[in-house]
Amino acid sequence: MISIDEARSLIRAETHRKGSIQLPIECAIGLTLAENLISDVDSPPHDKSLVDGYALIAADVQGPETELAVIEEITAGSLPQRSVETGTAARIMTGSVLPSGADAVVMHEDTSQVARPNQQNVRIHQRSVDAGQHVMTRGASIRRGDTVFSRNHRVRALDIGLLSEIGQAEVSVTQPPRVAILATGNELVPPSQTPPTGNIRNSNGPLLAALSRGTGAEVVDLGICPDSATSLRQQIRRNLEMDVLILSGGVSAGVLDLVPRICDELGVRQVFHKVYLKPGKPLWFGVSDHPSHQTLVFGLPGNPLGSLVCFELFVRPTLEMLAGQEYQDGGVVRAQLASEYRCYADRPSYVPATARSSSDGRSFAAQPLTYHGSADQRSLAAANCLISLPVGESSFQPGDWIDILLLETQSCFQPYLHSAAREAS
Ligand code: AMP
Ligand code: MG
Repeated sequence: MISIDEARSLIRAETHRKGSIQLPIECAIGLTLAENLISDVDSPPHDKSLVDGYALIAADVQGPETELAVIEEITAGSLPQRSVETGTAARIMTGSVLPSGADAVVMHEDTSQVARPNQQNVRIHQRSVDAGQHVMTRGASIRRGDTVFSRNHRVRALDIGLLSEIGQAEVSVTQPPRVAILATGNELVPPSQTPPTGNIRNSNGPLLAALSRGTGAEVVDLGICPDSATSLRQQIRRNLEMDVLILSGGVSAGVLDLVPRICDELGVRQVFHKVYLKPGKPLWFGVSDHPSHQTLVFGLPGNPLGSLVCFELFVRPTLEMLAGQEYQDGGVVRAQLASEYRCYADRPSYVPATARSSSDGRSFAAQPLTYHGSADQRSLAAANCLISLPVGESSFQPGDWIDILLLETQSCFQPYLHSAAREAS
């Protein structure tokens, strides 16, 4: 049986990222940039006023009630027609182009208007003004030619404003992998049905599909396949055109655990079977090689915690790497145990837990959840991390340091849009 690290490096050696595609930015959320993005503008594009007020020469304001002649009104989108000279000011709105000659703006609230014969004046209620007051200079935030986003950045909803500002209505992203998910088991019924005695609902399939989508993958949930060699053969063969096929169940030592044999018959090259890990030991991994295409096949154990642990340790980093991100072993962080914990692990183990910010705010405090076996979905849904336990007998005290694997609790859920890709190409 191989170790977790060996399994990871074997998978990694078989994982090759896909090419790039051009997409409208709203379809690129959750996907990874395949190029550096450079701004074609300065931001702001001109020296601009940050407030509604009066553009003037700072040195003109001397003493309590300076009065200046108002020469024009500059609104956003219009250009100044005149220069500000000593003794004058221009009414200016937020974001508007600062007129030449002016070097500061006084807020409207710090002024009052004074009508003089044939002349509108403004009185400044500030004793002095610093040059640059309420002015943002051209290019203060971005210079034309700046690299604003780097290749490998995963696009977030938050980035869309900046992408728009720098003229990137379409971006080149790494094509996300196409992933098919198939839950195997004679005992399974779809979540919409009431299971007859002896049956259970397929919970792994929908969970694996949702977690996969969260990585940016394009996912097809194939539903349930019975433990029949004919059905399995048909379903697996049909999906060897995908980039990744994730199977759940049928990889242990039971009489109906047919997945490794059927994969072998279909020419899927076994890379490894079984990992020194708990839960998740039966994990199977193979590759279907065709001259023009490769499918990575994961056979995850059917028990829900084992399936989740294998997804987080092995499948997630693979999907992320295929989608263009750097390979990462997952969000492992150090945490302190919130309470005493005793356990015995005969293999490196993972248990569902909750992690919160510790009372001093400097680390995580992790609390293992009481769970009733590997099928306890209720504990899984309450967890936001998995505690990693070393082999052997452990007796942890509150405050002891441990490793935790953070679970994603807020997936970015942007299905990759075929139609958008077609339109763009
Ligand atoms: P298997 O790996 O096929 O031997 O399944 C191990 C355990 O996980 C059995 O108790 C199955 O009933 C359960 N199981 C298998 N597949 C699923 C699934 N898709 N959803 C929920 N439980 C499952
Ligand atoms: Mg089974």
